Amino acid sequence: MKHASPLPNHLAERYRSWRRHAFLNRSHYYEALVAEGQHPREMIISCCDSRVHVTQIFQADTGEMFIHRNVAALVPPCEANDQHHGTSAAVEYAVRVLKVERLIVLGHSSCGGVEGCYDMCEGSAPDLLESGSFIGRWIDILKPGYDRLPAAGSRQERLTLLEKQGVIVSLENLMTFPWLAEAVEAGNLQLIGLWTDIAAGKLEWWSPREQAFVPV
Ligand SMILES: [Zn+2]
Repeated sequence: MKHASPLPNHLAERYRSWRRHAFLNRSHYYEALVAEGQHPREMIISCCDSRVHVTQIFQADTGEMFIHRNVAALVPPCEANDQHHGTSAAVEYAVRVLKVERLIVLGHSSCGGVEGCYDMCEGSAPDLLESGSFIGRWIDILKPGYDRLPAAGSRQERLTLLEKQGVIVSLENLMTFPWLAEAVEAGNLQLIGLWTDIAAGKLEWWSPREQAFVPV
């Protein structure tokens, strides 16, 4: 494979600095992580968006959280069709092999993937309807969430509601994986829905009792 470039200096420098300070000061911690294997208690599914800094929000150390990121933090329904299912594979590994105690879906404000779904459903993003659009076919997952939006409200209000619907749809889809539903019903796995407001640095969680997102 000849189409690859060297690591640019600014990244190489950051790495060397991390190794000199953060790593070498506690290299025994990393050695133990390898000797004992990983035992994360949480899996987090978040958006790829660079502004959602999952490990910073939860002050997580190396080895503490099993993290999967995709466009709009969506989970597809269980589809056993021998296709390439990256998100489902990550969920399968976390639940069946690592046996995490909690699976958290983390949506966020100003989500471009969610906005794409909104525009696609409003008929103003024809490019996303094309069969060759990977983004379009991925955010199809969120269409049931769009169908639940109230007719009233500004575009911004409805976008925020759709971001939160993304979390709910993903939690619903998680329960279509039979081994995951079994783990939840046996009390071995908790599902948690979160949404973060990036500009305000705030976190809300989905309360099934109140059927609403409430501040943490
Ligand atoms: Zn996003």
